[in-house]
Amino acid sequence: MTTPSSAALIRAEIAALPDYNAGLALDQFRARYGRDALAKVDSNENPFGPSPAAIEQIRAAAAGVGRYPDAGDTALRHAIAARTGRDADTVILGNGSEDLIGAVYRAILRPGDRVVTICPSFGLHEFGALSLGAVVEKVPFPADWQFPVDGLIHAMAQPVRILIFSSPSNPAGPAIAPHELVRLLAAVPEGTLIVFDEAYREYLSGDLAFEATELLDRAGHAWISLRTFSKAYGLAGARVGYGLCSDSGMARALRKTRNPFAVNALAGVAALAALADDAHLHRTTAHIRAERDRVTAALTAMGVEVAPTQGNFLFFKTGQPSTELAEALRHHGVLIKGWQESPFLDWARVTIALAEENDSFLSALSRVL
Ligand SMILES: *Cc1c(COP(=O)(O)O)cnc(C)c1O
Repeated sequence: MTTPSSAALIRAEIAALPDYNAGLALDQFRARYGRDALAKVDSNENPFGPSPAAIEQIRAAAAGVGRYPDAGDTALRHAIAARTGRDADTVILGNGSEDLIGAVYRAILRPGDRVVTICPSFGLHEFGALSLGAVVEKVPFPADWQFPVDGLIHAMAQPVRILIFSSPSNPAGPAIAPHELVRLLAAVPEGTLIVFDEAYREYLSGDLAFEATELLDRAGHAWISLRTFSKAYGLAGARVGYGLCSDSGMARALRKTRNPFAVNALAGVAALAALADDAHLHRTTAHIRAERDRVTAALTAMGVEVAPTQGNFLFFKTGQPSTELAEALRHHGVLIKGWQESPFLDWARVTIALAEENDSFLSALSRVL
């Protein structure tokens, strides 16, 4: 029997994509490095995990998994609508917000379309578009890490189908200020969809913590704000994200291009409970804001260049290929993410976690550097 070859079947756009640079699961780390992790700080997870109420709801719902979940996500969709002040018909749930990025692209993009984003970028913003034959233009942050609004405005001088970026931006950390968002929105051409990825919005502080949907509404373009239960709500393994859309037509389209039953029965009840637990959310965000300042100061004192951050992570210059630094740190039990996107190959991202995990990272880094 000959080995079947799939090479000729696979579309060129897919073959050309890199593998997703995912963090290493803890059991995989143990198997490969023969030790326990001291600090798993490579995937921007919540070190406290989810609200205990979410875990309780998963237990209570476990016996019901013989049935399909509600395809319309009615309870969770209405809870999100009530919480955000939006119409429930404009809310779309996904199997993580990553699922919705793909759903948006499948609904909107034609081969050859231009997609504009920032650099360094969240990989899925780029790869999902490339997989459909779109052209992605990445606008770099300037050396002072100001949000690259001028560059984005320049890139939108030509027609663009989708403008997509995260704020706070993963992996860099900065967030766009409200007056800068207004200036950017004023330059968006007719016929462009704005995808505003707010996966880390709960960690914003001061003037940067504003309700973007009001500004997006006022600008008069089609838009979607992507949010998730994976980060501040601590439910990364459950896979629940959502989008707030400019109009119900967009939400209806995305229900066709996402997977049906995107939110499974256990994840749905967990997200509902997590959304109601404000105390857990506030405990998480207060801890992260304090620790990100402390770790930034410690890195700066070590002479390490750090980008300003509004997320639960820091982007720092490694002074060597970052994948090599990440590998060296793994041998000390510390998992970070070496960045694999040019020209940031000597930068890495570390998640802010428990104080002792952050200390493990800092002491391992000082030994390795
Ligand atoms: C983590 C993250 C997401 C969300 O991922 P899901 O787990 O799929 O909800 C989306 N966008 C950015 C920029 C992220 O960092």
